[in-house]
Amino acid sequence: MTVLIVAEHNGKQLATATLNAITAAQKLGEVHVLVAGSDCLNLVEQVSKINGVAKVLHADAPHFAELLAEEIAPLVVSLAAPYTHLVAAASAFGKNIMPRVAALLDCSQVSDLTEIVDEKTFVRPIYAGNAFVTVQSDEPKLVLTIRASAFSAAVSGSQNAPIEAVMATPAQDLSRFVGRELTASDRPELTQARVVVSGGRAFGSAEQFDALLTPLADTLGAAIGASRAAVDAEYAPNDMQVGQTGKIVAPELYFAIGISGAIQHTAGMQDSKIIVAINKDPDAQIFNVADFGIVGDLFEIVPELTKQLQNR
Ligand SMILES: Cc1cc2nc3c(=O)[nH]c(=O)nc-3n(C[C@H](O)[C@H](O)[C@H](O)COP(=O)(O)OP(=O)(O)OC[C@H]3O[C@@H](n4cnc5c(N)ncnc54)[C@H](O)[C@@H]3O)c2cc1C
Repeated sequence: MTVLIVAEHNGKQLATATLNAITAAQKLGEVHVLVAGSDCLNLVEQVSKINGVAKVLHADAPHFAELLAEEIAPLVVSLAAPYTHLVAAASAFGKNIMPRVAALLDCSQVSDLTEIVDEKTFVRPIYAGNAFVTVQSDEPKLVLTIRASAFSAAVSGSQNAPIEAVMATPAQDLSRFVGRELTASDRPELTQARVVVSGGRAFGSAEQFDALLTPLADTLGAAIGASRAAVDAEYAPNDMQVGQTGKIVAPELYFAIGISGAIQHTAGMQDSKIIVAINKDPDAQIFNVADFGIVGDLFEIVPELTKQLQNR
């Protein structure tokens, strides 16, 4: 079995989700990584040092610079012949590219894997993460996307995997990169943070959300998350949403504060190692997934908790 992983990157650094995918793919067979880009030889060399990578394929062309799905999908298809599995992380990048690859190759995709049982058998969440299904496919070639939070990140070692330059497919010119707006923040990225503090509708306003959660997050070195109700009420920006239609997180420690625990929210955080819930309703659903629960008013508990942590 040989696996081709499609690398997600910004031209300088590999996305952590691709490192998680490299770990997952090692269970399938020999791992090759495709780095498509423009003038990114340093990155290609970094990838060749990652443990578990047997070969790096490097496709260099100006039209690969922004990793547009319309350009990358035909490239992956052009390289697909020797591979049994074509893999990417189930990030926005992977979700954009891999279904196109599956459609162009007319083969099946298995999405958002949380476990690889063997090369044909996979576990994935269904019903917003409320159940897990084991699926098996006998097709000779499969397209897979990997849930990054379910696998550890591969690390760099002292090896230097061979780098092979591959032929760039011609520019498709079906889409054009216009611009990218990135949120600048000193906080850890939500999906990679060791600690996440998330707030819900109960905060009542953007000012209170910020005034209570920011000091707690600063004290813990945490990323801030939010329920969809908090995002819809504009207490927090869209990219902070945790859940089925937001980000999937699995930190060491997750605080759900003033969040009821609807399945669409827990789908995005229930794999966290330790979950602490603060809610004034003792019957709130969030307590069903919590390791530690505090029943009470967040407006009293959160400032007190922050104070106690600061005095440690
Ligand atoms: C298709 C679909 C996709 C969705 N995707 C997502 C998603 O990705 N992420 C997501 O979060 N939701 C998602 N939702 C919405 C989800 O169903 C819930 O509506 C949402 O999670 C509720 O947010 P909440 O818990 O903040 O608000 P509420 O349900 O209003 O809960 C507020 C909680 O705060 C508690 N509370 C109130 N005051 C206080 C206080 N002073 N101190 C302590 N506790 C207090 C209450 O007891 C309550 O439990 C989705 C829904 C649908 C239909």
